[in-house]
Amino acid sequence: MKVSLEEVTKVFDGGVTALDALSLEIQDGEFFALLGPSGCGKTTLLRTIAGLETASSGTLRIGDRDVTGVPPGARDVAMVFQDYALFPHMTVADNIAYPLRIKKVGRAERRAKAASTGEGLSLGGLMERRPAQLSGGQQQRVALARAMAAQPTVFLLDEPLSNLDARLRLEARTFLKKLQHDLDVTTVFVTHDQAEALALADRIAVMESGRIRQLGTPREVFQRPANVFVAGFIGSTPMNLLDGECVPGDGETATSWGHRIDVAGVRLPVPEEIVTELAPGDKVIVGIRPEYLTESDEGIKGTVEIVENLGTTSLVTLATTGPNVQLTVPEGREPKPGATLHVTPRPGRMLVYRADDGELIAAP
Ligand code: ADP
Ligand code: MG
Repeated sequence: MKVSLEEVTKVFDGGVTALDALSLEIQDGEFFALLGPSGCGKTTLLRTIAGLETASSGTLRIGDRDVTGVPPGARDVAMVFQDYALFPHMTVADNIAYPLRIKKVGRAERRAKAASTGEGLSLGGLMERRPAQLSGGQQQRVALARAMAAQPTVFLLDEPLSNLDARLRLEARTFLKKLQHDLDVTTVFVTHDQAEALALADRIAVMESGRIRQLGTPREVFQRPANVFVAGFIGSTPMNLLDGECVPGDGETATSWGHRIDVAGVRLPVPEEIVTELAPGDKVIVGIRPEYLTESDEGIKGTVEIVENLGTTSLVTLATTGPNVQLTVPEGREPKPGATLHVTPRPGRMLVYRADDGELIAAP
């Protein structure tokens, strides 16, 4: 089922605007991630789709049906809560069967359905246990099984992996991806973890303060963050965001007007495709991922301050005349602290944002 929101606003008593005229269309069968920092409105958006919160204004549709005033039980959606919210006094089997009981499905059918759903999530041997007798990962699978049992048309998952330890989280992530692929059910997945969103989602909405700052595929939001907020939020190592200014060129470049961007003591060429969008004097913020900086004699000069081992690469922090710059280097190629390095962005890997509004300057 498709889920669409049109200008949905949610203002809580006390005046907090958790959703700010938010519009969004989630496609049928899509694995859609809502990503953003704590407090940006992710849970509120999910609860609004579930019908657990009432929007202050705007329209919400599931499929072609306007569900704005429809109660949660009649929406055919299932939500998995961040803390799983299992019933502690019920067995695993009864927890999984609970939504079927609400739907007045008969006892025998409930038991059979709970058993097969539990089996599918490797809970077969645990059906008579209570939640307190399960590990975090098992509890999470019970919560998923309970959500799946009633075969909802939309699956809402609120940070389902956040209570698992790091290793289990990776396993559960792979498991969830496979499950969603097999079920082929529209899924809205909330996370504050950009790596999780990039790994799982077909598309990602990056949220800030009740609004969507960028909507796109993982590749799009990673390669071309639309603004400095998204640029700073996406990526396992933070993007370098360096203040710069457009300056006139010295006429040496025949193909462009020769404008350059003065940043951290060097003059980098303005990317060809946006050369008409910039004039000398314009203040910009240059965005370069640490992975896309390479050593070059002409580049930004810095002194190696810190070298952090990331496994197959190391993250090197350089002190420059301006703010620090970070780059990654392959294993075994780490410079020594105190060494001088010159670094420059790989061709085509420099993003330029307007300093005044933080928006990406794109080709016209
Ligand atoms: P997230 O899930 O992204 O961390 P939430 O949706 O939980 O964010 O919250 C968004 C904003 O709404 C926050 O400022 C939060 O404090 C506020 N908020 C959430 N629930 C309530 C509520 N029941 N009453 C008042 N304010 C709330
Ligand atoms: Mg939340």
